[in-house]
Amino acid sequence: MKSVPYRGRFAPSPTGPLHFGSLIAAVGSYLQAKCLRGAWLVRIEDIDTSRNIPGAADDILRTLDAFGFEWDGAVAYQSQREHLYREALDSLAKHGATFPCACSRREIADSTLAGIEGPVYPGTCRSGVPAGKAARAIRVRVAETRIEYVDLVQGKVAQYLATEIGDFVLRRADEQFAYQLAVVVDDAQQGITEIIRGADLMASTPRQIYLQQLLGYETPSYGHLPIATNAAGEKLSKQTLARPLDANNAAPLLFEALNFLGQHPPLELRRSSQKALWDWALSHWSLAKVPRTRVGPMQML
Ligand code: GLU
Repeated sequence: MKSVPYRGRFAPSPTGPLHFGSLIAAVGSYLQAKCLRGAWLVRIEDIDTSRNIPGAADDILRTLDAFGFEWDGAVAYQSQREHLYREALDSLAKHGATFPCACSRREIADSTLAGIEGPVYPGTCRSGVPAGKAARAIRVRVAETRIEYVDLVQGKVAQYLATEIGDFVLRRADEQFAYQLAVVVDDAQQGITEIIRGADLMASTPRQIYLQQLLGYETPSYGHLPIATNAAGEKLSKQTLARPLDANNAAPLLFEALNFLGQHPPLELRRSSQKALWDWALSHWSLAKVPRTRVGPMQML
């Protein structure tokens, strides 16, 4: 059997500068791809225009470059790929897998069922938009199904989509394609074979697998890395005011990232050059050493 060459990716959203939490996902996905002699792609997830910060995409690429990441091929931008998302949505609609929805956020919030990411959609528009109401969003019909996969880091994962998530949005009321659809189309279209990313996205993976099944795509392997938190135990993010990565301090930050990922580089590398650290990491990386936890130790960075 011919094996498919490894293709991994790092897919930051240009909502602000990279921080230590983003570095973890970048380092983990990069080392896994390079150690398996694969390609590592960078995709800028700028589909949600309301969250984009001008200049952030260029800043992210400059930072990745300054930290010594070498990506393969041209950087992909979701904002230039809307035709692909539209095609996928049309094909789902043609097969009756989607329905227009007229419900407002308020109406859905009144749903009595609580899911893992807010209320579960109560199914109001499943068999048609109520008379006098206009369709706003497009949702996918979620079957009574249990999605299971074995996470390369976290082990066995299972989710009952219907009761934990419900029919989810593929095109929002503001006509933007939802992250769940865009990411599935991009990963398939870019031939991604394995996805290494932060455990904050773990709850999304069953939705993505479900869409892959509906669209007839292969399901890549998934591995979710522990997420970095601040001293208050909050996920490092723009909202929690995570400090931007300092490119002048790249080698010590890389050292910390490798430690966080359970690789434990020898202490004498703490003060070594970025090149020496990468050389060590590229010959010692082991996904099996990454702690099997969803949240990693607190960062005082
Ligand atoms: N763009 C997403 C983020 O920055 C990552 C999506 C993914 O890796 O699937 O959180």
